[in-house]
Amino acid sequence: MKFGGTSVGDVAAFDRVRGIVGSLAGRKPIVVVSAMTRVTDALLAAFEHARNGNLDNAKSSLEPHFERHVEVAKHFLGDGRSGVFDTELELARGELSDLLLRTSRRSLPLSMLKDAIVSYGEQLSSRLLTEVLRNNGVPARHIDSRRLIVTDDEFGAAEALWDETRDLLRLEFASRADADEVPTMGGFIAANRAGETTTLGRGGSDYSAALVAAAVDAGELQIWTDVTGVMTCDPRICGDARTIPVLSYEEAAELAYFGAKVLHPKTIKPAVDHGIPVRVCNTFEPDAVGTMVVAESGETPNKIKSIAHKKGITILRITSARMLGSYGFMSAVFQVFDRYRTVIDVISTSEVSIALTLDNTDAVDKIVEELRRLGDVEVDPGYAVVCVVGEGLRASTGLASKVFSTIKDVNIALVSHGASAVNLTFVVREEDVANVIMKLHAEFF
Ligand code: ASP
Ligand code: MG
Repeated sequence: MKFGGTSVGDVAAFDRVRGIVGSLAGRKPIVVVSAMTRVTDALLAAFEHARNGNLDNAKSSLEPHFERHVEVAKHFLGDGRSGVFDTELELARGELSDLLLRTSRRSLPLSMLKDAIVSYGEQLSSRLLTEVLRNNGVPARHIDSRRLIVTDDEFGAAEALWDETRDLLRLEFASRADADEVPTMGGFIAANRAGETTTLGRGGSDYSAALVAAAVDAGELQIWTDVTGVMTCDPRICGDARTIPVLSYEEAAELAYFGAKVLHPKTIKPAVDHGIPVRVCNTFEPDAVGTMVVAESGETPNKIKSIAHKKGITILRITSARMLGSYGFMSAVFQVFDRYRTVIDVISTSEVSIALTLDNTDAVDKIVEELRRLGDVEVDPGYAVVCVVGEGLRASTGLASKVFSTIKDVNIALVSHGASAVNLTFVVREEDVANVIMKLHAEFF
């Protein structure tokens, strides 16, 4: 069971988690928890302050966040509390202060210091949650993830060394059959072979949880967040959007781009590789079933499972007679984007032109300047990508026709279909997108 930052944001949130873990204790869960919401950002900001020499600022900016932990501790652990967490917090305060000082003096590699600093979010949340559980009727045991998850040396975006990690996790959890304590560990944090603290990249707690689930061959990986699974479309556009009961890994991966609310395919990969079902659950609605993500979801009668969208999209078109019948042209175009580290999302090509979409246009001026050497370039902002996802989409006759005839009064600027068996993507003007989503949702759901 992985709980995200908003699921442990304050007293009320901790209370919900306590209830949820308690009610499922019989299924022998392992709990993985993110930092309290906003704490990772605050730690990163403190690191930046320290790096810029504002040491006092760095330290004082963390105080309100320590205070949030204290509030939760006071509420659940009471006045006569064991003091275990208080001691931890005092130690953390001192250690962070040292690390920030080292950062301002650059007395260790900065990437290493940054991970050490940012790891306190999960160090503290996991210790706090363990104490909250223990003191409220759910026997629990804290585990320092840095003991079990071994990574490479890519500070800030480390990857687990699977064989070692798996063996350590299995050893740790081998004798659980008769143990009634719920192991509770921080997500996101790990250590390299030398024992130095590393982190798994933003949002990395899901990855930690997937590693644990894969290693122990869990019956299920539950990702507890603040939405009820994956929806048929954005509920802010259609009031009758509903939760999708079952999605395939492939469908979930196609939807991932359209919002952090959906699982990132990279983070859940260890679970996917081991065929472990992943369930997205809502802390605020613990009794709802949420969305189950499995290897094979099967087709639904109307094929379509979800209609996702994203606004703020810019279309870039490159036209060049040189492209006709030549090789290497696309490669030359893509190299420009590579140089400016700019992600391309949707692509469509003809004999002499390429159209593609970007959602990050920070470097677009420079990119256009370079692309002009290859051909004529047009930049067209103000679009939205619409992505229709469902098993059987590519193979079904008449489905594209049904999609487009439902929105026949709307101009389609770009289409991409066939790359994936489960995805039909097209681009419309931003001002049309709400209308498009509503019409499609009404037609297919
Ligand atoms: N706390 C980390 C972050 O905010 C990891 C996570 O929440 O998954 O990115
Ligand atoms: Mg998070």
